[in-house]
Amino acid sequence: TDILDIQRIRNDFPVLHQQINGRPLVYLDNAATTQKPRPVLNALIHYYEGYNANIHRGIHHLAEKATAAFEASRKSIQQFLNAAHPEEIIFTYGTTDGINLVAQSFGRRFLKEGDEIIISTLEHHSNIVPWQMLCEEKGCILKVIPVDDAGDLILEEYEQLLSERTKFVSVVHVSNALGTINPVQAIIEKAHAVGAVVLIDGAQATSHIDIDVQALDVDFYVLSAHKLYGPTGMGVLYGKKALLEAMPPYRGGGEMIKEVTFEKTTYNDLPYKFEAGTPNIADVIAVKVALEYLETLGKANVAAHETDLLRYATEQLSEIEGLRIIGQAKEKISVVSFVMDGIHHQDIGVILDQQGIAVRTGHHCTQPLMRRFGLTGTTRASFSVYNTREEIDRLVQGLHRVRKMML
Ligand code: PMP
Repeated sequence: TDILDIQRIRNDFPVLHQQINGRPLVYLDNAATTQKPRPVLNALIHYYEGYNANIHRGIHHLAEKATAAFEASRKSIQQFLNAAHPEEIIFTYGTTDGINLVAQSFGRRFLKEGDEIIISTLEHHSNIVPWQMLCEEKGCILKVIPVDDAGDLILEEYEQLLSERTKFVSVVHVSNALGTINPVQAIIEKAHAVGAVVLIDGAQATSHIDIDVQALDVDFYVLSAHKLYGPTGMGVLYGKKALLEAMPPYRGGGEMIKEVTFEKTTYNDLPYKFEAGTPNIADVIAVKVALEYLETLGKANVAAHETDLLRYATEQLSEIEGLRIIGQAKEKISVVSFVMDGIHHQDIGVILDQQGIAVRTGHHCTQPLMRRFGLTGTTRASFSVYNTREEIDRLVQGLHRVRKMML
């Protein structure tokens, strides 16, 4: 019943076609990073071979061409997120960079001693540590929304945490470790009701879920291109214009200034105020191609295929003796995290790798979440548009072999 021709799609991804340890590669580590389709790779080569130049300042032909492509990417991200203005799109180095930007720029300027910041148990370290650093510096207080045994946030507890002291709420859209899709619309509304500003970490959401920052009324939304069939080292911070305008610059340097004298410097307008230095020009340009690729497939079609894989994998893995899936949230993306009785996750990862199967093992940069479930880590299989049921069968066979070798 698949609308997509998965075999044809697989042909767009050169990296998938190789043998690892004598077996065809089964790549099930898509939550860490997705593979890149040929059009994205071609865009990178095309830029470096055809019009590599520094942007904005140059008046020669190549500089103008590179600048136009760079700014066209900003427009395409604007459309992708349905942002009201292109200058609300700030190019960053990734999700981590975007969160640090907001914590340092907004946090330092507008938060003060005793103010409360709410995050959740599901957060990636990149949405924990920047806030802890800010709390240490400013004397703010960090509060954490708990999760239930299924891996869903406990919203009643969230409401208990909210008060007029709450100044900032920063929550993940989709958990990289368990796959939980959070009810971000409700989280944002409740935060706004007490006057708090909200950031949503969209790193894992953007390739699976339609994002409309205006419908969400979210204040900040961050993402990484490399989880979205795009290049590494490139991400986006969306911010409401009024907030970004009120915020001081994060990094100082070239490009982010209007005029510099030794006495005083004035800052550039949005979005350049937050884009100091030469950016990842090639990667920014290639992101537009990644978004076009995803659009051609159709996000709904991709999501339907991934949901099918999630259902199939959940079914098949549940039948393996001694295997327990961690995280059975009401709404999930295509991530299955699991543990096996008497077998360390690292051993599982090594034995699967010997069979050409790539999964992630460990704490997934979510140590507090692992601790909540009494674990040091899990094995995680995460599926993307180019994965197949046959690959899940390979995973299941691989896990039977793990049991045979380890028990
Ligand atoms: N948040 C989540 C939910 C993630 O999955 C990741 C990447 N694993 C990050 C933040 C950090 O993204 P990046 O490493 O691209 O900055």
